Amino acid sequence: MINTTLLHDTLKDNFGFEKFRPNQEKIINSILSGKDTLAIMPTGGGKSVCFQLPAIVLPGITIVISPLIALMKDQVDSLKANGIVACYINSSQSETEQQAHIENILNNKTKLVYVAPESLSYLENTFNQIAVSLIAIDEAHCISSWGHDFRPAYTNLGYLKKRFPSTPILALTATADKATREDISKQLNLINPVLYISSFDRKNLSLEVRPALDRVKQIIDFISNKPLESGIIYCLSRKTTEELAEKLQKSGINAKAYHAGLDANLRAQTQDEFINDDCQVICATIAFGMGIDKSNVRWVIHYNLPKNIEGYYQEIGRAGRDGLPSETIMFESYGDVIQLQKFASQGLNAEVQLAKLERMRQYADALSCRRKILLSYFGEIVTQNCGNCDICKNPPAFFDGTILAQKALSAIIRLKESEPLPVIVDFLRGSKNAYIFEKEYQNLKTYAVGADVSWYDWNQYLIQLINQGYCEIAFHQQNKIKLTPLAHEVLFNGEKVQLTTVQKATAEKVTIKESKVKPKNDSLFEMLRKIRYDLSKEESVPAYVIFSDAVLKEMEINRPMSDDELLAIDGVGKVKLEKYGHIFIKAIIDFHKSKAAKPKKGATTYKETLALFESGLSPEAIAEKRNLGVSTIMSHLAKLYQEGVAIDLFQFITKEEVTKIAEAKIILESPAALKPYFEHFEEQVPYEKIRLALAIIEKESSK
Ligand code: ADP
Ligand code: ZN
Repeated sequence: MINTTLLHDTLKDNFGFEKFRPNQEKIINSILSGKDTLAIMPTGGGKSVCFQLPAIVLPGITIVISPLIALMKDQVDSLKANGIVACYINSSQSETEQQAHIENILNNKTKLVYVAPESLSYLENTFNQIAVSLIAIDEAHCISSWGHDFRPAYTNLGYLKKRFPSTPILALTATADKATREDISKQLNLINPVLYISSFDRKNLSLEVRPALDRVKQIIDFISNKPLESGIIYCLSRKTTEELAEKLQKSGINAKAYHAGLDANLRAQTQDEFINDDCQVICATIAFGMGIDKSNVRWVIHYNLPKNIEGYYQEIGRAGRDGLPSETIMFESYGDVIQLQKFASQGLNAEVQLAKLERMRQYADALSCRRKILLSYFGEIVTQNCGNCDICKNPPAFFDGTILAQKALSAIIRLKESEPLPVIVDFLRGSKNAYIFEKEYQNLKTYAVGADVSWYDWNQYLIQLINQGYCEIAFHQQNKIKLTPLAHEVLFNGEKVQLTTVQKATAEKVTIKESKVKPKNDSLFEMLRKIRYDLSKEESVPAYVIFSDAVLKEMEINRPMSDDELLAIDGVGKVKLEKYGHIFIKAIIDFHKSKAAKPKKGATTYKETLALFESGLSPEAIAEKRNLGVSTIMSHLAKLYQEGVAIDLFQFITKEEVTKIAEAKIILESPAALKPYFEHFEEQVPYEKIRLALAIIEKESSK
């Protein structure tokens, strides 16, 4: 085992991170001791470091097999930003470009080479001449036809073990199910692989399910409160992505559609804009996201109910990879359930798909902590409620719903179990629409017995009755609602029914929120974000490659004003310190000063000094009048000068003196305090002059 200090130092120096995330260190040690390793980590868990760090420590090259070109480019950009030599080889490159990369590989300059499985053969000759220290196979579940995302080219990867028998292989995936796991080890010919499964809990993601009432309005309100935060909205159909994007655009939101039916160039462009913070919102089908490493996706919305929990979890996992709090919202509608049921029953493997959809629906209708349900789906047993889902935050209130249930169930009987849910609600509410009259339902008993309950609430109660098994939807018979034997217990044997109050919170929240609260754009965080954005444009890399949102947040809180202080921040490594440190430090110092220069309490005292000074009094006279020291008055004048008040400070100090102090500033490396200057000049230059000179120097340099 390699010594821990060395690993931690490597992590800090090269990636800027203060500590390992769960399992990272164990996985790295396993590889470094030469063992084949299978790492299962949720999206955003930190898989990349598990092979990038060993790649730095090991003598030879690390080959990374990755399915997506966009992803390779991103990772290589990130590595370069940290000063690590890496490249990728794929079919999109010219011959010369590829040759240049191969040259570097042969010269042992490159530490990591990313390659798509389809392009591996291109490196065959090169392999004969180099030492391969590690092979990492990212998104390893692509090898298995059990999982989703099956990629035929992955099935050839089994040859790698034979080709490099003594090189450890690290397979990584976020897909945990056992069948896939075993398939990966077998097909890759891994030798006694060590298995590491990380917790799938992503505590920073909040979980929320809302009824799909006025979805578009809810979404617009949600985004309006976070106009600078990137987010993804997943929709079921291509058409919805386009329609929704258009509606959002009309409300002034920078949103675009993304789906597999769009032209490849347009798709690539949209994805780039999103990654580079030029497009705020993407309305996408599930085709979007797999190839994205963007760490500052702040929220994910599911416009429609997802097909299964695996997909849902992977999609929400694209939010908050940087570990900062991020929001997820899923809209649930009865219509979606019906449509998805139809798809599932017509597709391959119908039984399994329907069962998975059913689990998804149960999750959406959950009355207990959602995270517990999700994690138990992935085989993790959790006893504590999470406190970060809508159920934990707003627990449902139960009431005796027996009478409501009896009304609904007898309505279903009166309608001969031959109508779908909306008709039952209309019937219960005594609606006078054409269909009701045509069928003469208004003459039946129980017509309008539930007129006092709103349409929306009846819908929710009926869905609750379905979920509790008192009635069911006959999907193969126009979604007619049928009774189950349980219903008879309620109707004839006095069984009590518990219902939960319909959560109106969401609908109300939507209407109250009209007065939009725009976040302040003059925070230090926003300033740093702007600097990051500009730098990213200069260097043609995504903004989060420069620094993640989490790093900027820490800068905002800790306000580092020296190299050492900046380096102490999680996510700042040596290379980034060297490249960007001075820019961010200067911005923080400037910000600090601009805030410090406008102290509320002090403002009047400066004003008084200024008024007296403008009336022609000397600093000494002002000091006397105000009963303050001369040096205090001088410091007022210096401050006022720095804030832009036209005061001729050269009446108190000569140009030569300023030059001398400017030199001292360089020699002393810009100390924050005045004392070092005072001592530097062997107490021969008074504090007032030092202060005035520094005001002049700083004003000059900020021009
Ligand atoms: P995955 O591939 O598992 O989805 P990534 O490797 O992309 O995850 O890492 C997700 C995010 O976490 C990235 O922004 C990465 O920089 C960050 N990260 C990884 N390891 C650490 C660590 N030890 N400390 C802090 N941040 C980390
Ligand atoms: Zn919870």
